[in-house]
Amino acid sequence: MSPSPPLASPAKHVYVHVPFCRRRCSYCDFAIAVRRTVPVNEFIDSLLHEIALRDSDQPVRDIDTLYFGGGTPSLLGGDGVARLLDRLRAHFRFDDRAEVTLEANPDDLTVETAAAWRAAGVNRLSIGAQSFDEGVLTWMHRTHSADQIERAVTAARAAGIENLSLDLIFALPASLGRNWDEDVRRILALDPAHLSLYGLTVEPATPLARWRDRRLMHEAPDEAYEREFLAADETLAANGFEHYEVSNYARPGSRARHNSSYWRHVAYDGFGPSAHSFDTRRRRWNARELAEWSRRLADGGDPCAGDEVLTQENLDTERIYLGLRTSDGVDLAQPAQPIDAGMLERWVESGWAVRDRTTLRLTARGWLRLDTLATDLTALSSHS
Ligand code: SF4
Repeated sequence: MSPSPPLASPAKHVYVHVPFCRRRCSYCDFAIAVRRTVPVNEFIDSLLHEIALRDSDQPVRDIDTLYFGGGTPSLLGGDGVARLLDRLRAHFRFDDRAEVTLEANPDDLTVETAAAWRAAGVNRLSIGAQSFDEGVLTWMHRTHSADQIERAVTAARAAGIENLSLDLIFALPASLGRNWDEDVRRILALDPAHLSLYGLTVEPATPLARWRDRRLMHEAPDEAYEREFLAADETLAANGFEHYEVSNYARPGSRARHNSSYWRHVAYDGFGPSAHSFDTRRRRWNARELAEWSRRLADGGDPCAGDEVLTQENLDTERIYLGLRTSDGVDLAQPAQPIDAGMLERWVESGWAVRDRTTLRLTARGWLRLDTLATDLTALSSHS
């Protein structure tokens, strides 16, 4: 099988998907491979093979951000991440001004491991905390305890990694008795530079979906989702965080640069199973499962499972949706679109949006209606 055509512009933002996890969390539908022992060298070889296949006629290129997501990239360990970064430098040039992020689970994070990551070039960690309630962590099938979250943050800092992001999940079933305000208080006490807060959604074919279908759990009502989302927005703003994307908060100057490239709609490259790439016109995606991705590479083929060329209308729709997700908002003057001034006025009066002459930004209350508002606005632009 010949490789799919190369994407037009070599991207400055690179994503590497590391699919391994110890077990599947109850809510997770990501492309993962549950392994007791991670085949680190085999995986690194396959990954480098893919990069060589796609970048074969390109010189070493400068990149601004490198993001190891998953899965659980921290399962590669100190040596594994160091080996991977060392080999990636044959294709990508980056120094400490680049943002190099590794997703880590708290139970993988020791001072020694974090020091090895830091020495190899990692300068930002995204730590999956999710909750400080032990009962909730067990229910989620997380492999760590609340204490381990606090120890992980201490270890990262002791190893010299100060740029830390932490994740929490809100809108859990009421039956768990989770105290959301207490979790927000405990995460603030760790003084992270960045926070990601995600509302629980029940994805098909997850343990959660089975529990719901058997009526073993009941999803939180919309009112609980709204209450917790707005309470976090208020508390975090009062503590100096900027709510700059629907699910993301940052201290001034600490926005996630890699993820911001997705929201800014600029080019990025993704490697590894299920990874997507985008060159501002065309999107391509890899085989989702580790076994299929590895098999295609071992057979000398391309792990690309599909691609699409986006029309101008597709691009405009994506730009509007992505703009509405962020506090930067949507530039209504580019390209020229008929604006239903009455509709936008109603959004402003309802407290869902603010606008100046050319820019529309959603408020936290507007983000609670993001999909509906984005659909209304893109329906307008598609009639331009
Ligand atoms: S650790 Fe992350 S990727 Fe792995 S199963 Fe849990 S949520 Fe999914």
